[in-house]
Amino acid sequence: MSTPSTASERFLDYDKSLACIHCGLCLSSCPTYLETGNENDSPRGRIYLMRAVQDGRLPLDDTSVQHIDLCLGCRACEAVCPSGVQYGNLLEHTRDHIEGTYERSTFQNFLRRFVIEKIFPHRERMELAIIPARLAKTLKLEKFLPKFARDALSLIPGNGKGEPLPPFSAATGTRKGRVGFIRGCVMDVMFSETNQNTVKLLNAAGYDVVVPEQQGCCGALFAHSGNLKRARECARDNINAFANQNLDAIIINAAGCGSTLKEYGELLHGDQKWEQRGKEFSGKVKDITEFLCAANDAAGDKGSAGASPYQGVAYHRRRVTYHDACHLAHPQHITKQPRDLIKGVAGKNFVELPESDVCCGSAGTYNLTEPEMAERLQNRKIQNIIKTGADIVVTTNPGCLLQIRAGLEKAGSKIQAMHIADYLAGDEQAVIEDRLP
Ligand code: SF4
Ligand code: SF4
Repeated sequence: MSTPSTASERFLDYDKSLACIHCGLCLSSCPTYLETGNENDSPRGRIYLMRAVQDGRLPLDDTSVQHIDLCLGCRACEAVCPSGVQYGNLLEHTRDHIEGTYERSTFQNFLRRFVIEKIFPHRERMELAIIPARLAKTLKLEKFLPKFARDALSLIPGNGKGEPLPPFSAATGTRKGRVGFIRGCVMDVMFSETNQNTVKLLNAAGYDVVVPEQQGCCGALFAHSGNLKRARECARDNINAFANQNLDAIIINAAGCGSTLKEYGELLHGDQKWEQRGKEFSGKVKDITEFLCAANDAAGDKGSAGASPYQGVAYHRRRVTYHDACHLAHPQHITKQPRDLIKGVAGKNFVELPESDVCCGSAGTYNLTEPEMAERLQNRKIQNIIKTGADIVVTTNPGCLLQIRAGLEKAGSKIQAMHIADYLAGDEQAVIEDRLP
C-alpha cells in the first residue's frame, strides 16, 4: 500500500498552470478521457489537480497520484489547446515532485527505479535483460507466466541484435553535408537494423553520418518518469558528445527521444552554463522524416521517396497505413512529412488510419506501469488498423512498434508493423515477393 504525502512545495510554474482557461477543447483529444469519461482523467482535470496539490488543497495520496499516473504524457491536449498550455512541462514537474515525495508500492518502485531507470537507458544491461525473455518466447513458456509478465514479454521482439553502427558512414549519393545520428537506447538494442537503414537513407540522400560513441540516453525515460535531475545529466552528456563535430543536423528516428532532444533548452532552463548550449543543440535536432522531406524538397523532389535515391519501392504494391506516434505528431507537429514519404512509395495504396493520432498505449514505459489502460488503448488501435484493410502499418517510434506488433499478434493479424526507415529502405525479400506472379 502506498503512503500519502501532504508535503506542499512550489513544483509548478504557476503562470504556466494558469494559462488553462478551462474551455474543455482538449477533452475529446485525450485518450484516457475518451476511455474513462472521468474529468479527473482529462487534461483540464489534471491541471486543476496539480494546482490543488501545489496549493495544499489536495493531498498527494493514492487517488490524486493515480490520475496523474494514468496520463500517457502523449501531449495530444497540448496540440489542440487554444491557450497554449504547456501541459508536458506541467506534467514533468508534477511527476518529479511525486517521485520525490510520494512513497510507491514495492512493485511500482521496482519497475520505475530499477527496470526503467537502471536497465532501459543502458545498452549492455538491456541486451542482457532481454536474453531470458527471448529464451522464454522461443521455448513458448509464456503460458506459465502471470498476466503482467506475459504482457511485458509480448513486447520483446524475437530477432537478435544486428551489427553495431560504424562511427562514420560516407555519403553514397552526391555529397550534400554531414549529420550526426542519435542511435537511441531501445532502437540500438531492439531495432538495430532500423538504425542501419536510417543511416543508409541518409547516406543515399548525400549525407555523411557521424555516430559519436560517447552519446547516451536522451533523458526522455527519466523526464517522463519523474527524474528531471537525471534527465538534465543526460542532456549535458549528449551536448558534449555532439560538440565540435561540424554537423548540419542531428538526426533521430525515435519520436519519443526526438521531442526530448528538441527541448533541451527548456529542460536546462535557468542553468547559466548549459541553457544556451541546450537550445543550440536542440535547434539542430531533426526527425528523420522531416530531414528527408526537406532534403527531397531542396532537390526539387517534393517529398517523394519513390523518385529519390532511396530504394523504397519494395513495398509499393502493398496497402499501407500510418500511425502517428504521439511525440512526433503533438509536440513536434510532424504529420505531413511521414505521409508524403510513404505516399511517395505507395501512391494510391496509402490509406488513412482512423484515430491515427490517438495514443496506442505504449507511451514510453506506460505499458509496463499502467498495463490495463495500455491494453485498452492497444485494442482500440488494433481494431482501427484492421479496419483499414492495410497489409502494412508504418510508424516512427520503437514503443509504438512494439505495442502495435504485440497487439496485432494477439489479434491473430498478419498485418506487418514497421518503422518508416525500414519501409523506405525496402527489403530485398519483399522485392522478390512483389515480382512473383
Ligand atoms: S484546451 Fe487548454 S485551456 Fe482549454 S481546458 Fe484544455 S488545457 Fe485548458
Ligand atoms: S498528455 Fe495525453 S493522456 Fe495526458 S492529459 Fe494530455 S491528452 Fe490526456
